[in-house]
Amino acid sequence: MRIIMLGAPGAGKGTQAKKIAEKYGIPHISTGDIFRANIKNGTELGKKAKTYMDQGLLVPDELTCDLVVDRIQKDDAQKGYVLDGFPRTIPQAECLTDALNKLGSKIDFAIDVDVPDENIVNRMSGRRACLKCGATYHVVFAAPKTEGVCDACGDHLVLRDDDKPETVQKRLDVYHEQTQPLIDYYNGQGVLKSVDGTQKLEDVFQAVVAILGE
Ligand code: ADP
Ligand code: AMP
Repeated sequence: MRIIMLGAPGAGKGTQAKKIAEKYGIPHISTGDIFRANIKNGTELGKKAKTYMDQGLLVPDELTCDLVVDRIQKDDAQKGYVLDGFPRTIPQAECLTDALNKLGSKIDFAIDVDVPDENIVNRMSGRRACLKCGATYHVVFAAPKTEGVCDACGDHLVLRDDDKPETVQKRLDVYHEQTQPLIDYYNGQGVLKSVDGTQKLEDVFQAVVAILGE
């Protein structure tokens, strides 16, 4: 099963993608996590990506597309995958469609997690991230067992630089301008499904499972 998660930053794509990956036994591929791991390890890609990410801008398509096309050809992705945070522009979506055509494969579902902008700033200011293992929490809606400590790996949790309110508004503007058009793009491919992302996260997941099947 090949799945794309669509939705604004902070809509809950990563939260749902992790649960999908676990239930259906497919890898969760997050370009944001890949960039953050590169930043942490001080790679050239990480240095380039950071300058864009810190400003709430998108990393250029040419640094993003090949990375994903390589990743989806790895052994663990042969049964499917859930893409989270990619594609984020029409050129990225076209690059993915072309690559999939060449591989004789296609996207089965593009799931739009729909959350209005008013709810997003709350979600982002309360998000806490583990930069070691990629786990994500929320101080109110999905709190870790011990404040500031990752349940999964014990590392300390941080407020991402790009989750500060001044950057969140820029990211929302970028989303509406560059990413939202993908909803029409995947509707045109006949694979678009939408879920109400304002519900409790377990209820959002139930709606997702109703789409993907048990
Ligand atoms: P995205 O991957 O779309 O940027 P996340 O999955 O990281 O978003 O979610 C953003 C924040 O909102 C996180 O702190 C997460 O714990 C929280 N969150 C996710 N889904 C819900 C939900 N349905 N209700 C409340 N908070 C949620
Ligand atoms: P995310 O973890 O998905 O919220 O992504 C965090 C940041 O990483 C984004 O605001 C972008 O700067 C960058 N990024 C992640 N995925 C992409 C992508 N597909 N295209 C461009 N930039 C991306």
